[in-house]
Amino acid sequence: MADYYEVLGLSKGASSDEIKKAYRKLALKYHPDKNADNPDAEKKFKEVSEAYEVLSDDKKRQIYDQYGSDALNGAGMGGGPGGFSSSSMEEALRTFMGAFGGGGSEGDIFGSFFGQGFGGGGQEYARQGVSKKAQISISFEDAAKGIEKEIAITNYAECSKCKGNGARSPQDIKACTTCHGSGHVHQSRGFFSMSSTCPHCHGSGKVISIPCTECHGAGKVKQKQKIKVPIPAGIDDGMRLKMAGYGDAGEHGGPPGDLYVYIRVKPHDIFSREGDDLILKLPVSLTEAALGCKKELPRLQSKKPVRLTIPSGTQTGKILRIKGEGLKNVHGHGKGDLLIHVHVETPVNLSSKQKELLEEFQETETASNSPERKSFLDKLKVFF
Ligand SMILES: [Zn+2]
Ligand SMILES: [Zn+2]
Repeated sequence: MADYYEVLGLSKGASSDEIKKAYRKLALKYHPDKNADNPDAEKKFKEVSEAYEVLSDDKKRQIYDQYGSDALNGAGMGGGPGGFSSSSMEEALRTFMGAFGGGGSEGDIFGSFFGQGFGGGGQEYARQGVSKKAQISISFEDAAKGIEKEIAITNYAECSKCKGNGARSPQDIKACTTCHGSGHVHQSRGFFSMSSTCPHCHGSGKVISIPCTECHGAGKVKQKQKIKVPIPAGIDDGMRLKMAGYGDAGEHGGPPGDLYVYIRVKPHDIFSREGDDLILKLPVSLTEAALGCKKELPRLQSKKPVRLTIPSGTQTGKILRIKGEGLKNVHGHGKGDLLIHVHVETPVNLSSKQKELLEEFQETETASNSPERKSFLDKLKVFF
């Protein structure tokens, strides 16, 4: 029998990390799936698996270091669940599964090597808790200045009584009898052995004989919680805030989920927005537009009005810009502008006196009063 350290290319003092690394590298290299036309690979694969099986187990490694491999293959150690029986292919594959079933990036390597068909089995994966959604409605003004809102959420939190393991006491957690605690069961298909998650314990390798009285074995309990959500100034309708860690508790030591807060902003009576610009639609009368006028306009966040001059001859659709009077950028990149959209209103409900005056005005009208109209009529002449 070759020296187990030599088989893995290690020295006697190798750390458990070095052992695991060396084994994984060699096991991938000699795995039978990858070596259909290399008859030596199977032997090598079994050898490295056997070496790893012993050296990755502190107790077996100690015995091996002191007495050599013969001591391990003797009566007391071999056979039975979890024991080491001499190197069968099934044992080698089980070792292989166990060494790669750790989840995380290592699980990814495993997945990309074999595709997703293989179940890692034998270990419970640390999983992030479920993320949640919530919605908050705020006024247009509050969106502009920012606000803190309190909301009530209900999450699954780790059960404090059993610390999440679901059992009445640690002694009430027993090894699963179906899979002998390994979490996976094997089916032999000729040369190859398929491993699947144990249907009895769902892969945990453990069963609870007496469940926790608080969570009835779930390991988690529903918990109501009030949390304060800081809503930044400049937030817009439909934006989403991430409250990291405010989702359900994680499983098997995984991190908690997150809470996503969707913001609804109620429309304002006179203001609207385009990005960080604040929009104000300003209706002016025909005479105001023609003669020019001064206007005092409301500000969104201040009682002090904005003074604005509408020049004589202002057309409908004209946009007047007041710099820096818009909304704060939600990411802190300055402020938008206030855009005043002028809308000239044609007079309606004329009295007979007004009608007379307008008719009198019409008689005095010249082409230069309406340059756009004149230019249009000039273009039309070409057609007739
Ligand atoms: Zn089981
Ligand atoms: Zn509990």
